[in-house]
Amino acid sequence: TPLEWPARDPVSHRVAATPERTALIDADGDASWTFRELDRRVDAAAAALRDVLETPREARIGFLLDSRPAFATLFFAAVRLGTTVVPLNVRETVPELVGKAERTELEAVVCEADTESNALDLADERGEIPVRSVDDPGSDRIRSLPVGDDAADSPSPPAVEPASLESDDVQLIMFTSGTSGDPKGVRLTVGNLLASATASAFRLGVTREDRWLCCLPMYHMGGLAPVVRSVLYGTPVVVQRSFEPRATADALEAFAITGVSLVPTMCKRLLEAGWRPADSLRFVLLGGAPASSDLLERCREADVPVHPTYGMTETASQIATATPAETEAHEGTSGQPLLGTDVAVVDEGGEPVPAGEVGEFVVSGPTVTPGYLEPEHTAAAFGDRGLHTGDVGYADAEGRLWVLNRRSDRIVTGGENVDPGAVADVLRSHPAVADAAVVGLEDTEWGERVAALVVPEGGSVDLEKLLAHCDERLAGFKRPKTLGLTASLPRTHSGTVDREAVRTRLLESGTDVSTRS
Ligand code: ATP
Ligand code: MG
Repeated sequence: TPLEWPARDPVSHRVAATPERTALIDADGDASWTFRELDRRVDAAAAALRDVLETPREARIGFLLDSRPAFATLFFAAVRLGTTVVPLNVRETVPELVGKAERTELEAVVCEADTESNALDLADERGEIPVRSVDDPGSDRIRSLPVGDDAADSPSPPAVEPASLESDDVQLIMFTSGTSGDPKGVRLTVGNLLASATASAFRLGVTREDRWLCCLPMYHMGGLAPVVRSVLYGTPVVVQRSFEPRATADALEAFAITGVSLVPTMCKRLLEAGWRPADSLRFVLLGGAPASSDLLERCREADVPVHPTYGMTETASQIATATPAETEAHEGTSGQPLLGTDVAVVDEGGEPVPAGEVGEFVVSGPTVTPGYLEPEHTAAAFGDRGLHTGDVGYADAEGRLWVLNRRSDRIVTGGENVDPGAVADVLRSHPAVADAAVVGLEDTEWGERVAALVVPEGGSVDLEKLLAHCDERLAGFKRPKTLGLTASLPRTHSGTVDREAVRTRLLESGTDVSTRS
């Protein structure tokens, strides 16, 4: 890696440089911490963690924590010890958590009041590994960690000598969202995280007045990345426990936020709740899933400083980000790859295709993971040109990317390729449709047929009118042949559309509309 992590861990670096600046703000309480205060907490937490881990530099510690300031504090405590952090999704069931704990060979778990009982079950399955809580423990098998979000600072915390960090050290094992199967464990190094923060700064710019709001879960890359970036930059990060349109709109206003990462559904819900961005807001990174043209249009009407972003866990978040001007001039683009990141668009044989032609994105550069937890996943995903993302799209002559869909989502019907996102876009553009998901179902005659699960706006939709709307805008082979109605789309724990569940519902209760007009 051409970029090296600061010799000292980022919080030590910050406390030497800007001790009195604000590091962390709790959006749900009133508390905030300067870098000096954060450093003390990190130190106390690191000392407590050191006591439960035999060899901190080789250990992996699980975080069964929702987004909160203590998550950030503990993450930097683990960085100080050189311990690998494994964030776990608090919405998962015990068997799912145990599976991840075994695959990562966790040596300890940190929990909070709400996740205590799952943490204990998980610890038992792992041979009674130690459990620590950031809240007051309700069980005598759990001891508390001195990072509670309202705990007073200890007067003279124990000093932990920061581990010397190497670029190749694995700092984080982050699980993917599990949209296309079981979540994969992604190993992310110190160098990956630093490269991501640096490249993001080159694209967006950083000023002393920057203040990011973190309202995505920190156990996903999109939530943790702004926290890591802000601490490196020495700018405050405001942490909100969970997204809720009114509360999030209030936090954006109250804390004069300059940047926030949102997935498209969050942005849509904010706008529907009447949110209008304040002048202070400069960046809305919109990514994680395709943003419909309808949403982009609404963003434009509401003057949202939208920066469409393509990213993934495997690249420690952003791969490409577009500016608002590019968004205006090149509809639907996610912009050019960030500094140091290279994206090739390749055909089925792995050969690059010309600009404008559709292929799979293959990404390389300093933010790309050295590999998954399981070597077989790594072997399957990496080729000569880098990591095969499984995402399909195209690049223009200037290298701007358009993300269309996932390779596994592509529908081939009667030999024709159909982009399910484009069909969903047409469905969503009908006034009686709130949302839609489009998948391929097996078809004896055509190989696959296009099928759509539709969420009606206000409870009902006239199917004849909807089909007529499609006929005006879509070639015959793209028009849905099976339609189903639902109150809400099935989603994975991470909020992405669960396409397998969509398929199942359509098979069970979809209506054949192939002969209707
Ligand atoms: P899994 O890898 O387990 O199937 P996942 O891919 O959903 O889950 P994440 O790493 O959270 O897990 O998501 C990254 C994926 O999200 C990308 O590979 C891409 O498919 C999708 N994505 C991200 N940004 C965009 C975007 N701007 N437009 C369309 N899709 C996007
Ligand atoms: Mg993925």
